[in-house]
Amino acid sequence: MDEFSFIRSIEQSNYRQSSLIKGAGDDAAIFRQPYQDIVTSVDTLVENVHFTRETMDPFHIGFRVLAVNISDLAAMGSTPAFYLVSICVPKHWKENELQEIYSGMKSIASQFEMDLIGGDTTSGSELVISVTIIGYVANNKARYRNTAKGEDAVFVTGTLGDAAAGLYVLKENMDMNSRSNKYLINRHRMPSPRVKFATGLAELARVTLNDISDGIASEASEIAEASGVAMHLYYESIPIHKSLLNFRQSEQRKWMLFGGEDFELIGTVPKKDWPDVQKAADKTNTPIALIGYIEENPMYAGSVFLHEKGKKRRLHKLGYNHLK
Ligand code: ADP
Ligand code: MG
Repeated sequence: MDEFSFIRSIEQSNYRQSSLIKGAGDDAAIFRQPYQDIVTSVDTLVENVHFTRETMDPFHIGFRVLAVNISDLAAMGSTPAFYLVSICVPKHWKENELQEIYSGMKSIASQFEMDLIGGDTTSGSELVISVTIIGYVANNKARYRNTAKGEDAVFVTGTLGDAAAGLYVLKENMDMNSRSNKYLINRHRMPSPRVKFATGLAELARVTLNDISDGIASEASEIAEASGVAMHLYYESIPIHKSLLNFRQSEQRKWMLFGGEDFELIGTVPKKDWPDVQKAADKTNTPIALIGYIEENPMYAGSVFLHEKGKKRRLHKLGYNHLK
């Protein structure tokens, strides 16, 4: 495989974003953005840490790595526009498999009208893909984790635990043709970031947002800690997809609270704005649920409480930690 013909083959022949001045092909890309705040983030997938060839086809690897980035921009209330891809390729990968990774990225990029504007190509012992994403948001309208206040309503989009269940179905070689298992596998391989819903909240004065990548226990803690408040969640209110009901209850619970990678959004708004959040969800066909509230109590700042079967317990995060 030749690096230069490979790069030429994955370059876009035309671009969608009107602010782009120079795409791939020179030493750097340029876009002009006079009115909005620029939002940027980077995420990396490493073979055998984040995925294996047994559970992900190259297409899904590409789709997922960009989806994860798009979800971060959704959680900022911003609109994705550009991405750059740094890829380290082992010698045994074939060019058509690399092309499939780019097909996966391009498939979700076209859903969001995004352009590939550059990257870097190297070789090494394991496949590593790092995607940098760039988007925009109206001035001072980005949504943070540290803005939750007492009495806020806590909401979540979609259903939780699906992606973790999908990975389990793949790892355990369960029936891949049943409708419910197909749904779960799809949720693992091809997440749908909630950009439309998040940007649909633009009119609201104060929204706290975080995307669920490590499990709601973890992202709820991040909001509680950053905002210096206590968050209360009702287990029975957390939405569950019917496909999850085929599994043991202990597994359902584990996946819903700690599974992560659903790339749904958890957020808070002043109670009076909850109906507007529901309206934005309806407009964008986003399932949404009210799952708890915020308490301003210095004694429990940074804590998350789970109310379950009438009992209240501290909910601790159990997310994956790469450096531990
Ligand atoms: P330079 O030597 O200036 O760093 P490169 O040869 O690395 O240039 O890249 C040439 C062009 O192709 C640049 O615009 C770069 O952004 C783009 N590019 C290189 N590798 C990739 C990749 N894996 N995916 C997308 N674009 C790439
Ligand atoms: Mg380079």
